[in-house]
Amino acid sequence: MATYYNDNTFIYHNGNLVKAKDARIDLYSQTMHYGYGVFEGIRSYKTINGTTAIFKPEEHYDRLRKSAQALNLPYEWSNEELIEATYAVLRRNDLQDAYIRPLIYGPANMSFNPNEESNITIQAWAMQPFLGDKLLRVHISEFQRPNPKAFHMQAKACGHYVNSILASQDAKAKGYDEALLKDLNGNIAEGPGANFFIEKNGQLITPAAGHILTGITRATVLQLCAMLNIEVEERHIHPEELLTADSAFFCGTAAEVIGIQQIDNTTMPRAWTDTLGAQIQQAYKALVVEKTIETNATVVA
Ligand code: PMP
Repeated sequence: MATYYNDNTFIYHNGNLVKAKDARIDLYSQTMHYGYGVFEGIRSYKTINGTTAIFKPEEHYDRLRKSAQALNLPYEWSNEELIEATYAVLRRNDLQDAYIRPLIYGPANMSFNPNEESNITIQAWAMQPFLGDKLLRVHISEFQRPNPKAFHMQAKACGHYVNSILASQDAKAKGYDEALLKDLNGNIAEGPGANFFIEKNGQLITPAAGHILTGITRATVLQLCAMLNIEVEERHIHPEELLTADSAFFCGTAAEVIGIQQIDNTTMPRAWTDTLGAQIQQAYKALVVEKTIETNATVVA
């Protein structure tokens, strides 16, 4: 298990910086019992200038608010105050390369009725970017992504992650590194906590919105494709298409951009370093540390 905190770790809790070991949550909360809460996964990086920069904070806190609204959870915070609070947590804990976890959770209420207020915590812990160039072996899961008519797919809701945990644990128990989930129609959807791309005939393809969380990293990859003149299509991917893919990768805030070597018994034929995914990985790596990205045509800051 990773070490998330120690006796000297501070978190943001309802407006104050408090020691993680002293923070208390209500055990009589719908969040604890029913998974009825929302959260974010954000990263900060030490930039090439030595400063600490949270990557896309507005996008993450916009999504946190939208997730809360989708679940009818009261949400009274501005992005500005939460971004400031997040930097305060990083400074207090002397963190630069970090993973940041804001969580909106309910007060005591064991019924299914709405809450009158919400609580917020922002936790952070050290996370090194791009640890190694490991490629993943991935298993197409027997667990499907949830029915979009049963959930708000764009909400990053706590309870949705029971599905992710089941799929991921099952894949790992079978000797793989991670799961790849299909949607209820049998098309490829996404990983337990990351979006999925394949490369085929010089083009990237990624599942369209509908059954997936359309991630902030996915949107960044689409932007990088435009900058790097890489053609990309958002559409359904039938599992049989994986048999003829040239390469594949996952992307997400935590996963960043990570290559896939094998999906069940199919090995991706192209060496990772020769793939479009590797180009995107390099560009993403530069972007998060605020390094200039060189494209063929122009230099984009
Ligand atoms: N899909 C799921 C199910 C996720 O949990 C995540 C991680 N938030 C992603 C995709 C990737 O999203 P993002 O790039 O915004 O981190």
